[in-house]
Amino acid sequence: MVKIYIHTDLEGISGIDTAEMVPRESDRYQECRELLMHDLNAAIDGAFAGGADHVTVLDSHGGGGNFILEMLDPRAENDTRPNRKWWASLDESYQGTFFIGAHAMAGTMNAFLDHTQSSIHWHNYSINGRRVGELAQWALVAGNWGVPMLMVSGDEAACVEARQFFHPLETAVVKRGIGRNRAELVEVSEARARIREAARRAVALIGQARPYTPLKPMEILLELSRADYCDDVARHPGVERLDARTVRKVTSDPLDLFP
Ligand SMILES: [Zn+2]
Repeated sequence: MVKIYIHTDLEGISGIDTAEMVPRESDRYQECRELLMHDLNAAIDGAFAGGADHVTVLDSHGGGGNFILEMLDPRAENDTRPNRKWWASLDESYQGTFFIGAHAMAGTMNAFLDHTQSSIHWHNYSINGRRVGELAQWALVAGNWGVPMLMVSGDEAACVEARQFFHPLETAVVKRGIGRNRAELVEVSEARARIREAARRAVALIGQARPYTPLKPMEILLELSRADYCDDVARHPGVERLDARTVRKVTSDPLDLFP
């Protein structure tokens, strides 16, 4: 049985081209939710067309609450995340994961709404000396169960980043960042067609794609944007403070990535 787990974010969804659309209090947030469901359904449809038997989806942006469940393709299972965990039902029974709506890591040029976890607090994050963003963080979580990243959709910068980490990989570029807060869009019907096609082809990568598993123990460095933010993080157990804004943590647990 071929099982695919689809992680979603909002910034890299097709049709979203200005930073002002995305906050929950924005007048256009409802439109963003609808656009998210269309990209997600395109990926689900592609996965089934490619031969998946089971698809689970995760509403991950801002802790969830973005999905319009009545719009969700009824063939997909929604991971309801009991206990407000990041995810719940991902395990070794899945053969691959997709990341829909991705954005690039903090500090990327011409990347729509680039950030890593917190655009206010986090300046740089690295594992074993390599800067990584949310794409690699999710791939590490999935890699804990031997599940490889097979497909990514998002802005051009997110897809370029994904290709630097994962190979083989299918990508669907749905827009291109103009600076950080605006994007030039691929027309939405074309964007959804790209997502469906990339998802369909991605299922064929099962067996070739390998899970993302950095060498252990992993040395994680997190540079905050301000010393007072660092004060809070530095209090967490197992975290060593290196300087005013930087903490270090050494761990072998891919589910314990955040200092
Ligand atoms: Zn997000």
